[in-house]
Amino acid sequence: MNKETDTTTDVRNVVIVGSGVAGLSAAVYAARADLEPLVLEGPEPGGQLTLTTDVENYLGFPEGVGGMELIQNGKEQATRFGAEFTHGTVENATLEERPYELELSNGDVLRTRALIVASGASARWVGADNEDELMGYGLSTCATCDGAFHRGDDVLVIGGGDSAMEEALFLAKFADSVTVVHRREELRASEIMADRARDHEDIEFRWNTELEALHGSQEEGITGATLVSHPDGYPAEKAATGVDVDRETVDVGGVFYAIGHTPNTEFLEGTTVDRDESGYLHTRTDDAGRATTETAVEGVFAAGDVADPHYQQAITAAGTGSMAALDAEAYLETLERTAETTLEIPL
Ligand code: NAP
Repeated sequence: MNKETDTTTDVRNVVIVGSGVAGLSAAVYAARADLEPLVLEGPEPGGQLTLTTDVENYLGFPEGVGGMELIQNGKEQATRFGAEFTHGTVENATLEERPYELELSNGDVLRTRALIVASGASARWVGADNEDELMGYGLSTCATCDGAFHRGDDVLVIGGGDSAMEEALFLAKFADSVTVVHRREELRASEIMADRARDHEDIEFRWNTELEALHGSQEEGITGATLVSHPDGYPAEKAATGVDVDRETVDVGGVFYAIGHTPNTEFLEGTTVDRDESGYLHTRTDDAGRATTETAVEGVFAAGDVADPHYQQAITAAGTGSMAALDAEAYLETLERTAETTLEIPL
C-alpha cells in the first residue's frame, strides 16, 4: 500500500469497494467531482466483465467491445480524473461511527467519510461430490478463461440461464460436444440467447437433470460425471428426500458451472446495512419515494450486482455506479454544511 493509502490517520472522502464496471463508473464520477476516490481492487480485479469475451449490448459499441478492454478503458478514464487504485480485500467494516473504518485482509485499516460498495457477486457452486478437489482441474466457473483447455473434449455446462447459454456457445468453438444440463425443462435464459444455443449443432440439452458427482483427479483432470434425472425436474432435491431418480455416469473431460452468483457482502455482516436472504444489499427510497443508492446506513452506498439480483447487466451496473457517486457527493456536501452550521470540526 502506498503513502496516500496508509491511512490510520488519513480520512478519505470516498472509498469504493470493487473495481468492476460499477466501481469504475462510480470512480469516474467521484473523481470528476474532485473527491479523489480510492478504489479497492479485490480478489477478482475488474469484476465479471474480465471473464467475458464480447459485450454486444453495452451502448455505444455497434460492433461489440471486449470485456477486458471495456474495464481497462474504464480504469484509465477514472485514473485520468484522479481516482487512485489499490489492491485490498475488506474483511470487516465498522460503520457505527464516522469516519467509517474498513479493515483489510492484510491488516491495514482505511478510514472514509463515504463508502460505495460495488463488490459484485461471485459464481455459485453446485455442491456435487468432488467439486472442491476438481475446481481448476477440469471444473470451472469461467468458459472464457478455461474453454481453450478443452479442445476435442465432451463438456457439460450446468445451468439454464443466459450465462449457461453464453458459456455453451463459447465452449462449442473448442469442444467436440457441449451438453447443457438443466434441472427443469424450461430455460430461464432470454429468447435470443436460448435460440442461439438451441440452433447450434454441437450443443445438446439434458432436461430435468442435475450433476451429482464429478470423477477424476487433480493429476488426470475430470474423466466423468454422474447425472441424476427425474421427469418432474429438480432431481437432486428429490433424490435427497428418497424419491427414485435415474442415475447415469457420462464420460466428459470438462464441467462448467453457470448457476448464478452470490453477492460479496460478508464483510458487512454485523453492520446495520440491510441485506436480503441471499445477501444482496437493499437500497432505500428518499422522502419523495424515489430510488437512491443509499443503504440503511447513511453515507454507505451500493452499486452494481451487489445490490441487484435482477438486471445484472454491465450497463445497469455502470448506471448505478454513477448514481452512487452522485449520491455520495450530495451526502458529503450535506455533511460539510452540517459541520459548518453546528461549528463542529468537519470530518
Ligand atoms: P440466472 O439467470 O440466475 O440463472 C441461473 C440458472 O442456474 C437457472 O437456470 C437456475 O435454474 C440454475 N440453477 C441455480 N441454482 C442451481 C443449482 N443449485 N443446481 C442446478 N441449477 C441451478 O443466472 P445467470 O445465467 O448467471 O444470469 C444472471 C443475470 O445476468 C441475468 O439477468 C442474465 O440475463 C444476465 N446475463 C446476461 C448475459 C447476456 O445477455 N449476454 C449473459 C450472462 C448473464 P432455474 O431456472 O430452475 O432457477
